[in-house]
Amino acid sequence: MNVLVVNCGSSSVKFQLYKMPDELLLIYGKAERNKDGNTDFSFHTQARNAQNHWEGFSFSENFKKILDELTRTENECLASLDELNIAGHRLIHGGDAAESQGAVEITDELISYMESRKMLAPLHYPANLEGIKTMAQLLPGVLQAGVFDTAFHQTLPPRAYLYGIPLYWYKKHHIRRLGFHGTSHKYTSFRTCRITGLRSEKSKIVSCHLGNGASVAAIKNGKSVDTSMGMTPVEGLLMGTRSGDIDAGLLAYLQENFNLSLAKIQHMLNNEGGLLGLSGVSSDYRAVEEAALNGNQNAQSALEVYHYRVKKYIGAYAAALGGIDGLVFTGGIGENSPFARKEICSDLEFLGIRISEMLNRKCKGKEAVISTSDSAVKVVVVPANEELMIAREVAEWAKSKV
Ligand code: ADP
Repeated sequence: MNVLVVNCGSSSVKFQLYKMPDELLLIYGKAERNKDGNTDFSFHTQARNAQNHWEGFSFSENFKKILDELTRTENECLASLDELNIAGHRLIHGGDAAESQGAVEITDELISYMESRKMLAPLHYPANLEGIKTMAQLLPGVLQAGVFDTAFHQTLPPRAYLYGIPLYWYKKHHIRRLGFHGTSHKYTSFRTCRITGLRSEKSKIVSCHLGNGASVAAIKNGKSVDTSMGMTPVEGLLMGTRSGDIDAGLLAYLQENFNLSLAKIQHMLNNEGGLLGLSGVSSDYRAVEEAALNGNQNAQSALEVYHYRVKKYIGAYAAALGGIDGLVFTGGIGENSPFARKEICSDLEFLGIRISEMLNRKCKGKEAVISTSDSAVKVVVVPANEELMIAREVAEWAKSKV
């Protein structure tokens, strides 16, 4: 069974083609909008690596070019598109439609539901929808399924998902905390057990996904029991451009005293806050780190806030889990920044967390244990692989359909 996994973001389309159940990666790559508004395209197969560029950035053109590469003879992937069985989409926000913890079929009903919820994830929903529509047009005979970022967090208990507002809003309108990055947290907690020998059904793992978007999840016996993002991805950690946790009372204060519309406030919380807002330098952790090293005090304090928030959530989730035996870092920052991991883990010895200076420094972008041999908590780094997890979920779902 051949599964094409696509992850459509506001400025990129990432794709991977897997032969399942062997989990053989036939081709992977991405089409990305560059700073001039044009597309940089790159892909890799067993046979070759290649790059290309074209003017503008549109989903239909990007997908056409991707499909061309799947069947190009010298790439040695597919003889024709008839060999493609399923397109598996990474979907951001399931809301009350994400009842399944695994993959869901993409139906007209699901598309209408997503259309009606666009404002809950303004950075992601429009791209998800365009990706689905374009793929359906280009590949009319291919099954379309998706895995919601919220699905893994369906196991949150009411004490973790209820907001402290009248229950009516939950009962009547499903206003509740949902959480995101679920596929990533599921994959990293699974890998953490594999690498460290922890038994999934008896484990207490805190997973830190630190990318442009960022969240922490508390995972007990393989199930998510709490997570830092809420009904929208704004809640929780400080992120690249999102504010993370903020006093809800501030919204009315800003609106009334500064004559700001809700749309403007929403834009500020999603696009102008986080590392970018505090540092005034960039939303990119590397750039902020460089500015901090060069003495920029705003950049230094932005990083302090960043690390402090993650540390606070680790402590909170150790309490929620009644202990912690695995701590995992993933996402661009979690995978690649020894500095971030060192700062976050500092002074957490009281929880049994001790990382090795040398192992931490050596680990960049690869799977590794970075805790000392006497650390009670196994601390690991696991590169994110949401695409493989989606391929697994979609292939499982499709067994009965193909
Ligand atoms: P997304 O959430 O868009 O998938 P990524 O997971 O790719 O984002 O993470 C992007 C973040 O990772 C950026 O802030 C970037 O600066 C950071 N990052 C990437 N490589 C490094 C590195 N070597 N050191 C520190 N931060 C890094």
